[in-house]
Amino acid sequence: MDLIDPFGRTIRDLRISVTDRCNFRCTYCMPEEGMKWLPRSEVLTFEEIERLARIFVEHFEVDGLRLTGGEPTIRAHMTLLVQKLAQLRVPATSASPFAGRKPDLSMTTNGATFRLLAHELRDAGLDRVNISLDTLQRDKFEQMTRRDELVRVLDGIEAAKEAGFSPVKINAVVERGVNDDEIVHLARYGRDNDVQVRFIEFMPLDAGGHWLNNKVVGQDEIVAAIHAVFPIELLPARGSAPADTWRYLDGGGVVGVIPTVTKPFCDDCDRVRLTADGQFRTCLFATTEFDFLRLIRDGATDAELAAEIQRAVGTKWAGHSIGQVTFVRPRRTMSQIGG
Ligand code: SAM
Ligand code: SF4
Repeated sequence: MDLIDPFGRTIRDLRISVTDRCNFRCTYCMPEEGMKWLPRSEVLTFEEIERLARIFVEHFEVDGLRLTGGEPTIRAHMTLLVQKLAQLRVPATSASPFAGRKPDLSMTTNGATFRLLAHELRDAGLDRVNISLDTLQRDKFEQMTRRDELVRVLDGIEAAKEAGFSPVKINAVVERGVNDDEIVHLARYGRDNDVQVRFIEFMPLDAGGHWLNNKVVGQDEIVAAIHAVFPIELLPARGSAPADTWRYLDGGGVVGVIPTVTKPFCDDCDRVRLTADGQFRTCLFATTEFDFLRLIRDGATDAELAAEIQRAVGTKWAGHSIGQVTFVRPRRTMSQIGG
């Protein structure tokens, strides 16, 4: 049975945050210190995640599960969770391209420890990986992530390729005055290393609250910078994927931009989210949450959980209003929601 929101959008993609903790402290995401971590008892267990995911996949025909955080690789035994999720089956009667098969399983990671996990995650059934990389300069990397880990991240990307993930996608948040001078450099890295770079517009979800509209480098500016050096052409409509994509005219691959702020793609959104503490959110920028941790631990049946999921999806709004006076920053920040 499809899960359809009040605006007729069918929900296909569930993003699951497995932890609010992280081994980095990216300036656009977390403060240097002072984050208040969730107590472990308030974090969904693998069994609870699997149970909820099963309802989404097997009852509501959700065919994409993305594991995120915080940093998902720092949660112990992630491979076990991937193995469990790989047992799920999208109903054979579904219109999904994954009908009768396991859902598409993906992960977003900072890549620092991916060398250690790439093969086992792949063997466990992880299909795709996105690795975050905002700069290729070691000092800038340390400034942006507050960790001197560029070398390990680059190695993590190589490990992902060696393990057979294809394409490996690179998420690069662009912040004006910080790394906007590296757009072409990162694009060249993608071309030379056979990875798909996707630039992300800086969103007002940083813990420091220093987001300002003029710190956003918009899609048009990013595309113009790349096009001036490596001519590109827009690929046909993206469907529900958040990135618009372009191909290099010389055959150098594909590059993407996620234009959340300057060209919101809410009309095509098919995503919902589960935080590490079991709060269900119908939008990255939602200001309301639905407490599935409590429901599960109070003994809700699968039918009751499914009914609550439907009720929650019934409140999904048409879209966020970043940049307008009506915009209200969510109480939680990116690392607490799961980007
Ligand atoms: N720790 C993992 C990582 O960094 O890839 C997964 C979680 S992180 C919150 C998910 C994605 O959100 C990353 O690509 C990160 O760069 C992005 N992100 C974090 N804060 C952001 C912000 N304020 N604006 C735009 N993207 C942001
Ligand atoms: Fe950690 Fe990812 Fe946030 Fe950076 S963006 S602090 S790696 S959760």
